[in-house]
Amino acid sequence: MKPARTRFAPSPTGYLHVGGIRTALFAWLVARQSGGQFVLRLEDTDRAREVQGAEAHIIESLRTLGLDYDEGPDIGGVYGPYRQTERLAKYQEWAQVLIDAGRAYADPYTPEEVQKFREEAQAIQKPFLYRNHRPENPPKWDGKTPLRFKSEPKDYRWHDAVMGDLHAGAEAIDDFVLIKSDGFPTYNFAHLIDDHEMQISHIIRGQEFIASQPNYLNLYEALEFEHPAFATVPHILGPDGKKKLSKRDGAKDVLDYFRDGFLTEAMLNFIASLGWNDGTEQEIFTRDELIQKFSLERVQRSGARFDENRLLWMNGHWIRSLNLDELYARSKGFWPKDAEKYDEDYRRAVLGLIQERLKYFKEIPELTDFFFKDLPVNMELIDDNKQLKKFERSELKSLLKQAQASLAQSDFTVPDLTDRLNALLETTGQKPGILFSLVRVATTQAPFSPSLAETLNVLGRETAFRRIEQALNAL
Ligand code: GLU
Repeated sequence: MKPARTRFAPSPTGYLHVGGIRTALFAWLVARQSGGQFVLRLEDTDRAREVQGAEAHIIESLRTLGLDYDEGPDIGGVYGPYRQTERLAKYQEWAQVLIDAGRAYADPYTPEEVQKFREEAQAIQKPFLYRNHRPENPPKWDGKTPLRFKSEPKDYRWHDAVMGDLHAGAEAIDDFVLIKSDGFPTYNFAHLIDDHEMQISHIIRGQEFIASQPNYLNLYEALEFEHPAFATVPHILGPDGKKKLSKRDGAKDVLDYFRDGFLTEAMLNFIASLGWNDGTEQEIFTRDELIQKFSLERVQRSGARFDENRLLWMNGHWIRSLNLDELYARSKGFWPKDAEKYDEDYRRAVLGLIQERLKYFKEIPELTDFFFKDLPVNMELIDDNKQLKKFERSELKSLLKQAQASLAQSDFTVPDLTDRLNALLETTGQKPGILFSLVRVATTQAPFSPSLAETLNVLGRETAFRRIEQALNAL
């Protein structure tokens, strides 16, 4: 494979969500698997929509996911600068080339005049085409009015690595704006110049640009540029598989997922799976496997459904795959306040117990609070328990007393606790759903916990008995 030069070209108009990051990931994978370069370019010419801090946020998001770039606004590179607002002279130069070749002209119309043309076209049910209103003798362009491309309408056929062979008729071609009256180039013009100058080999981008592709092909010809390969990635759809993903469904800031304690491995795995698979049943991919196996040809054409449950499942998988030391190191910052009073070994043991069930780190406080503090005795846990609620309080009290007596003899190792709990089933003649639930509620004041013997072992004798005593009093 020839080394590819790909780019991620976000506009700093807000935070990066999964859709943006997926485009970046696909471009990064193509660069890395071919031994090429991945370029970050800031498309910051829309001054009105620019959001303060967006550039730093984009950079932080890429860093957090490990999508390293070889050239970019903060690190430079041979084809820099990498912010479009720092490249204005280049757009002017190429604009002049087009003017000299008779392929660009000053737009003499006021917005009101253009609106009138538009309405006239509507009245006769014709699509509005700017090129039907080209001025006969356009004024010399002074930079104060928009500069328009003088298109040469014709049919186009082109190949898209994802969407396949595409074509469009001449009606798709129009005279679009190259440079706006504020002196900044449009995306349509600037990206094409930059991709050429930066020697980009593959343009990987979202579907919103595909309708403009014939216009771009027309401009490539006018500039005598060879065009890069195109790859259009499908939309990401909400969980219902119908509408485009909205903020509520998960189109949130990707950094929010890290704030909630998702692992990089899982995020990469999940984002890659939004519209791509390797053609087998495999669902879990490491970063290296993604680099090895990704291909644009296997990106699907239809919208990719965003399913947050799948992300939770994947993250759970990646959490279980880490060894306890690694998991503990990564969980830093997610522990509840009360955990600070306990030493690392204790916290590590607690983490070991919940590793199996943990889906993301932000759940840690909820899953572990009873390990770090005595919760008030909660009788609802008994009233809400299908099995326990059938018993009189006095019966429960007597059962718990029998458990207390046996556990008093225990050395509190897991095997001994297990044996004693099992033996209690025999001596009391009760099922685990009753006896173990009762001991669990008494010692944790939580409806669920990891295995009872292991939970008691980590809690320790002193805490277990203090809580059993409190429960007995309440009963
Ligand atoms: N600046 C464009 C955007 O953020 C980039 C499109 C492209 O990748 O060419 O949507």
